[in-house]
Amino acid sequence: MSEVEKAQTAKPGEDTIFGKILRGEIPCKFIYEDDQCVAFNDVNPQAPVHFLVIPRKAIATIDDATQDDEQLLGHMMLVAKKVAKEQGLTNGYRLVINNGRDGAQSVFHIHIHVMGGRQMSWPPG
Ligand code: AMP
Repeated sequence: MSEVEKAQTAKPGEDTIFGKILRGEIPCKFIYEDDQCVAFNDVNPQAPVHFLVIPRKAIATIDDATQDDEQLLGHMMLVAKKVAKEQGLTNGYRLVINNGRDGAQSVFHIHIHVMGGRQMSWPPG
């Protein structure tokens, strides 16, 4: 099933695979973690470097984020930058947040994709 097909069938509000990862129910090697968020490599990488930054707090979509999440979302961006540098992405990289069904979001727990290590193209599909 393609990522877009997964996005068509994913249901907001359900427990997600990322919740299971955060609770240690699914093994996952974190490449970064702190009290607010974790980062790990995407299981289906779309670039030589492709990792995800996810909050420990279960927020389904950007649409569900509130003013209370402002600091957390900013923190995630800075973690993305820090880990990108640690992963050797010194020549640029791309941050992506897929939001909702038309945005091709397949896991309803907010995450920033960080992709790099190759030249990206634009526009995206
Ligand atoms: P999105 O389509 O933006 O919701 O992205 C979800 C991402 O999660 C996809 O790129 C998947 O490859 C990735 N993913 C799903 N399950 C896992 C997992 N167990 N470990 C790491 N990445 C995963």
